Amino acid sequence: STQKETLGFQAEVKQLLQLMIHSLYSDKEIFLRELISNASDAADKLRFEALDKPDFYEQDSELRIRLSVDREARTLTLIDNGIGMSRDEVIDNIGTIAKSGTRAFFEKLTGDARKDANLIGQFGVGFYSAFIVADKVTLTTRRAGLPASEGVRWESSGEGDYTLETTDAPRGTHIVLHLREGEDELLDEWRLKQIIRKYSDHITLPIEMPTAAVTDEDGKETQPAGWETVNKASALWARAKSEITDEEYKAFYQHVAHDYSDPLAWTHARVEGRQEYTQLLYLPARAPFDLYDRDARHGVKLYVRRVFIMDDADKLMPQYLRFVRGVIDSADLPLNVSRELLQGNKDIDAIRAGCVKKVLAMLEDLAENQADKFATFWKEFGQVLKEGVGEDFANRERIAKLLRFASTHTGNDGQTVSLADYLGRMKPEQDKIYYLTADSYTAALASPHLEVFRKKGVEVLLLTDRVDEWVTSHLTEFDGKNLVSVARGALDLGALEDESEKASQKASEEAMKPLVDALSDTLKDTVKEVRVTHRLTESPACLVVDEFAMSNHLQRMLKAAGQ
Ligand code: ADP
Ligand code: MG
Repeated sequence: STQKETLGFQAEVKQLLQLMIHSLYSDKEIFLRELISNASDAADKLRFEALDKPDFYEQDSELRIRLSVDREARTLTLIDNGIGMSRDEVIDNIGTIAKSGTRAFFEKLTGDARKDANLIGQFGVGFYSAFIVADKVTLTTRRAGLPASEGVRWESSGEGDYTLETTDAPRGTHIVLHLREGEDELLDEWRLKQIIRKYSDHITLPIEMPTAAVTDEDGKETQPAGWETVNKASALWARAKSEITDEEYKAFYQHVAHDYSDPLAWTHARVEGRQEYTQLLYLPARAPFDLYDRDARHGVKLYVRRVFIMDDADKLMPQYLRFVRGVIDSADLPLNVSRELLQGNKDIDAIRAGCVKKVLAMLEDLAENQADKFATFWKEFGQVLKEGVGEDFANRERIAKLLRFASTHTGNDGQTVSLADYLGRMKPEQDKIYYLTADSYTAALASPHLEVFRKKGVEVLLLTDRVDEWVTSHLTEFDGKNLVSVARGALDLGALEDESEKASQKASEEAMKPLVDALSDTLKDTVKEVRVTHRLTESPACLVVDEFAMSNHLQRMLKAAGQ
């Protein structure tokens, strides 16, 4: 082996390691789940790459992970024959947090161990969890396709730095954990099996542990020492629904979503017809820290007949459903389907459309039957779902039905009012859906534009999310009723005004003409037009924007963004 080199961890890694060791201690057994999960991903990646390059298997295509203990040395050893890593990959994946959103991650840390543990899981820093139980970790790996001499040994005690050296190694990854003082419990094989069954039963890759040789009375070996598979090792989504427990569904969610909490809901179905595929899609119970990060990972995984194809399959789920997690396993796509092929592929489009419908149906079901869960969903992901109004023309009506708004009717800032609720409360002579966009609920309530609506007892939706400008520019009608901003143009209250009101308005407009002319003249460089309004009942004047101009709110937002 070549000379040993010592490299420093990126500052964030050091910080993370400290945090990990302290805040995750109460859940320390998760380290095993994390390492097994990595081995499983590594097997998936090898299977996929080997489709084009069967040589990658090097006569060793029975993919598995093996776990063994050495009581004397106080070590645990995990060996997988997956894709392995090259030297550069080791440095990138194990020495740095090359992922975007690192800062966002650190900003989200609360100091509350449970919450932080959850974040750590989402951030995907699983490998480092080995240091919760180990004070030294030795990882030896070789990437598929590289010569046997190009293995890499990485070693660290999880403090400031790590060493690297080149060595001979079989394909795959070999990890030795030198247990910390007091972790002897993990040398007990029975205990390890228990942890594997608890967290990793659903892993498709066989997880093997050694079996002792069996001898008869004469000391003759009747069964040699070998390996036994500890987990179920079958793809959960391929099993019949009736045979899967909620606990299994939840454990699988935690694996695919990298989220330690339970999902809010899931939908599992085999779809037959022109396209045959299985979908197992989950709604998380809370937003990941990188919900607004363009490079966020962990969406829906695509498999073709159990072979993992790709992870961040954004072709399978539109942006506005980017919070959905899970697996789609196609029976028809070619195994060599590439990223390029996925682009504009008719079969993929059909699968995607089917999955979107499933997710919307799941949300409709929550909205109808599980109000609490829907409220949780809305709080975490409502703003993202709203993007769909502009993004998914075909499903606009269905998405619109799922939207929830704050409103003058409820007396609080909760987003609980659906458009259907609003329609149900409309005045008999009312023919429009009125809304107001503002920076905040308080600002909205203080708006003079609401005065006339208060007077007439007409409900106004109060839109205060950034995305609402986008929503209202795309959702101009619902159930045959126009959505109208109360702050725009010459407000026409239509049938909400009776004849005598209209007559008295006409009279006051005439009486005010001299004043309006004078004001128009004085303000001619500042405003486009001065007119008499009947929308105010308390304030003497207000600014409105032209029917087709940018709203005040949007102008302020653009200004704030430096445009
Ligand atoms: P995540 O699994 O979320 O990416 P981890 O910290 O668990 O985060 O792992 C970091 C990266 O290290 C993985 O994405 C993978 O590239 C690499 N890695 C870890 N373990 C293995 C392994 N057993 N075989 C191959 N690559 C691995
Ligand atoms: Mg991992």
